[in-house]
Amino acid sequence: MNNCAIVGINWGDEGKGRMVDLLTEEYDVAVRYQGGGNAGHTVINEYGKFALHLLPSGIFRKGTMNILGNGVALDPENLLKEIQKVREKGVEISPENLMISERASLLLPWHRELDGLEEKRLAGKKFGSTKQGIAPFYSDKAAKKTVLAGELFYPEELLEHLRDLLEWKNLTLEKVYSARPYTMTYLEQWLKDYCEPLKPYIKNTSKWLREADEAGKKILFEAQLGALRDLDYGIHPYTTSSNPIAAYAPVGSGYPKARIDRVIGVVKAYSTCVGEGPFVSEMSGEEADKLREAGQEYGAKTGRPRRVGALDLVATRYGVEMQGATEIALTKLDVLSYMEEIPVCTQYVVKNEITDEFPFPAALGEARPVLTTVPGWKKDISGVRRFEDLPEEAQNYVLLIEKSTGCFVKYVSVGPERESIITR
Ligand code: GDP
Repeated sequence: MNNCAIVGINWGDEGKGRMVDLLTEEYDVAVRYQGGGNAGHTVINEYGKFALHLLPSGIFRKGTMNILGNGVALDPENLLKEIQKVREKGVEISPENLMISERASLLLPWHRELDGLEEKRLAGKKFGSTKQGIAPFYSDKAAKKTVLAGELFYPEELLEHLRDLLEWKNLTLEKVYSARPYTMTYLEQWLKDYCEPLKPYIKNTSKWLREADEAGKKILFEAQLGALRDLDYGIHPYTTSSNPIAAYAPVGSGYPKARIDRVIGVVKAYSTCVGEGPFVSEMSGEEADKLREAGQEYGAKTGRPRRVGALDLVATRYGVEMQGATEIALTKLDVLSYMEEIPVCTQYVVKNEITDEFPFPAALGEARPVLTTVPGWKKDISGVRRFEDLPEEAQNYVLLIEKSTGCFVKYVSVGPERESIITR
């Protein structure tokens, strides 16, 4: 049982960072395999409170190797800033505990700008992008219009490659968006300021991972966002531009033949969703405000208030299925302690029919929730460390999720701190 993926079952923000931080104790390597600086994995530990954007959440553990795989959107500018910020809190970061895949594509300066320009063009129809350049980056990657981190070691070829990309990209910037073109002088300075300092971290991480695996090291794959944001299986077009599902971990990590023995699906005890798109169990008004406040549901990257809703068992079942979760980590159960009665969405109504199935994206907009309530526990549970010590109502809430997803709830998190966890 050497390898494990920690993934989101829902819309993201389930508390994956907190689970990776906890579980890296049992693993030797933590690898981010997709997504980019739009992540906001919150970790609270002895060094303080962090919202990690690109760094794997294993960065705080001595002896853990952290890898940014080929599947990530490597934003040199933001990564450098993040390394600096985390170092300031006393965390050591060096090529001894952080490596970047030579096959990771670089998020170029125009990607972020294009994100902003496109959201502006969309105006009222925007998708709620975090404007970190993720969609333009992955579009360009698929079109083979990015440079690989390892090209930094081939300066002549790199400049020629960038010159070609620049000429092509300026056409879009100037003619489609009437924006200012980029120049080689700007790009050369950007390489010097933000890419040169990263060179010591760039390695053949595929080889390293293979050797680590062969030597019996335990690998943890860390996802960003959740199943419902998956490019192929999510709520198209309100997805991200990469694949947060566990099945992508071997590809995006740089170790395509990796076997994943455990898939820990992180589920929040209620629903939240950042940005646009259908959200069937969404709450509104005072009920929503209260839950948002209790759970402090504001984006880790953007500070945006998150949309909140009842636990959605239809979406959660689908997420567990898409992730191939072997166990669930249920987070933020403590947040529900104020509720007399807890709303739960058990099924959907689509075209006047009740269904257990998560609908095709185009049908999701008209889906309505079938809501029920279960008794609350009205007690502070943040100090509980054994499942048997939870109030019966809280135990039943956990068992309801287990029954309805068919997946064992192995962990119950009752607070943001590392130790606020119940392991079954
Ligand atoms: P991630 O992107 O999946 O890592 O999730 P985020 O970091 O965006 O959101 C999770 C938030 O919930 C963070 O602020 C965490 O500190 C917090 N959190 C995680 N687990 C718990 C928990 O069990 N209880 C409480 N109260 N907060 C938690």
